[in-house]
Amino acid sequence: MNTARKPVAVVVGATSKWQADGRNTKLAHGKAAHKFPMSTVSRIVGTITASLLVACATSPTKQYDVRHYLTRPSAYRLVEVLAERSDEERLQVATQVLTAKGIPHKLEDFSTPRANGKNLVFEYGSGRRLIVVSAHYDPPPDSPGANDDASCMASIIEAYEMLRRRGDLRNLKVRFIFFGAEELQRQGSKAYVRTANLEGIIGAASFEMCGIGDSVAVWSAEGDTRNSQLVLAIEKAAKDQGIHYGIVGNIPRYYSDHESFAEMGIPAVGVTIAPREDEAVLREYIKDPNAFRWMRVENRPLIFQTYHTKNDTAETISSAALLLAARIIYETALNLDSVLSSNPQE
Ligand SMILES: [Zn+2]
Repeated sequence: MNTARKPVAVVVGATSKWQADGRNTKLAHGKAAHKFPMSTVSRIVGTITASLLVACATSPTKQYDVRHYLTRPSAYRLVEVLAERSDEERLQVATQVLTAKGIPHKLEDFSTPRANGKNLVFEYGSGRRLIVVSAHYDPPPDSPGANDDASCMASIIEAYEMLRRRGDLRNLKVRFIFFGAEELQRQGSKAYVRTANLEGIIGAASFEMCGIGDSVAVWSAEGDTRNSQLVLAIEKAAKDQGIHYGIVGNIPRYYSDHESFAEMGIPAVGVTIAPREDEAVLREYIKDPNAFRWMRVENRPLIFQTYHTKNDTAETISSAALLLAARIIYETALNLDSVLSSNPQE
């Protein structure tokens, strides 16, 4: 049912844009090198070996280094830099970006029986109450991991910049965390909640897949969490901005770092950007992700067509979706700051 809306990359020079015209997705980068007959290539490149060319053609990875972002920062450009990279490289890029922007941050080591790694933590605001807003920097195995979850790293940095431009939050502190080893049963966040100072925390939101769509899906909003200050603030942010949203309870099969906070009794939700027109099929999918009809990739909601596959590339990401996620984070923080200022005892 989603075939017509399948992601398509149209390559214009070194950059690419989305079109929903049903043409096939393909990176021109890799194909162009194949078009030269070997004799021509030999004449032109001289000492470059054929094997190196083949390697370049088949793995068009790491086309952008961090300067691609720093010379002209945008959330989309940051996804281009982060996609196709390993978790260590992503952590390094994120650290370089925060350093270049003068954003104070800490790298916190964690160690569990399944993983050793680092979480990257930075904060905004001077309030007594705290929310955690996170993304994970480890990509899924064998996937470029653009939407999952480079997209949300980019949206979070964008949201930080928006907050910084606006000025202090006096009643709230937002702790942004890029967790490691989320794909490994969320080792980074599990370790984090055991030792972190979470005094004053009122909620945690894990942002997963921020790069495709025009509406907000809040998930794991079960029981009291549904009407927690955090979820109400996200809901108000979406409403005030005229952004369509859906709120659901626990869903089978999918997890994210917010669950480590929920296990500590903290109201915690996952937040995902998805196409509004996919809402019905998305609700069907998350209810029963193992159903037979999802075997056909084009039957799935758009965000699950590339999820955990080699097709989760930067070309599938829309700048507008990234900015929408950033706007939701920003407005949620302002809403909470304002609620907390009118209830100082909270
Ligand atoms: Zn993820």
